[in-house]
Amino acid sequence: MVRYVISKEFRFESAHKLIKHDGKFRLLHGHNCKVLVRISADQLIEEGSKAGMVMDFGDLKKLVQTFISYLDHGFLNEILSTDSPTAEYVAAWLFQELQETVKQAGGTHITLENVRVYETDDSYAEVSGMPVVHSGIESRF
Ligand SMILES: [Zn+2]
Repeated sequence: MVRYVISKEFRFESAHKLIKHDGKFRLLHGHNCKVLVRISADQLIEEGSKAGMVMDFGDLKKLVQTFISYLDHGFLNEILSTDSPTAEYVAAWLFQELQETVKQAGGTHITLENVRVYETDDSYAEVSGMPVVHSGIESRF
């Protein structure tokens, strides 16, 4: 069976401190983060102006941008209410927020494959998997 995957890249700037960290990362510092969102479907849209697509890239951008804007220029400890707003945490939060949003907008044949959050050019955290039932991460929306 064929599976189609599309991906879109986003960027945001933020500050955080990892309060429990035993090194310099416990101090306030910032990152220019890159986010990669991948969604997939086993069938393409069949009719209309978006025929042949998993989802219009423009539509995907609109869906994700709300959450990216929420993080942009934010102090992650405060806006996500955690002492450890790691790349893993941000990826899990985005994955959780996007999962229903993507399904509602794209239809039941659409799956959110994964969310990747780059803290630096060569370091990222990725979250994928089954629907998040209770991750312990609080929704801000
Ligand atoms: Zn950091």
